[in-house]
Amino acid sequence: MSIKIDLQKCVSCGKCRTICPGNLIFKNDESKAFIKYPDECWGCTACLKECPVQAINYYLGSDIGGKGTFLNTKKEKNLLHWHIYKPNKVEIIITTNVAEANKY
Ligand code: SF4
Ligand code: SF4
Repeated sequence: MSIKIDLQKCVSCGKCRTICPGNLIFKNDESKAFIKYPDECWGCTACLKECPVQAINYYLGSDIGGKGTFLNTKKEKNLLHWHIYKPNKVEIIITTNVAEANKY
């Protein structure tokens, strides 16, 4: 599991660098984000949840049956939409309410 950052979409806001608990994300000469140590990413998903432009994709490795499936997230007030893209072009959206995240 690891992330991949789309430099075309990145708007250099720096939120992913600030939130990554492992300090794995850096900025290049154009202040665009890149992951410097992908092997050390443990897939906490914090960075993609912070990214305002869906520039960070989280890849599900073959070890958990991902086979090229990736996901990113989009926020809408208290709702967090998880967009899951399968290799066969099928897209699945799962929505969670962040206000209820610690309810149970
Ligand atoms: S998924 Fe978590 S550990 Fe991996 S780069 Fe993003 S914030 Fe860092
Ligand atoms: S949070 Fe998204 S837009 Fe902001 S620096 Fe990171 S990848 Fe770029």
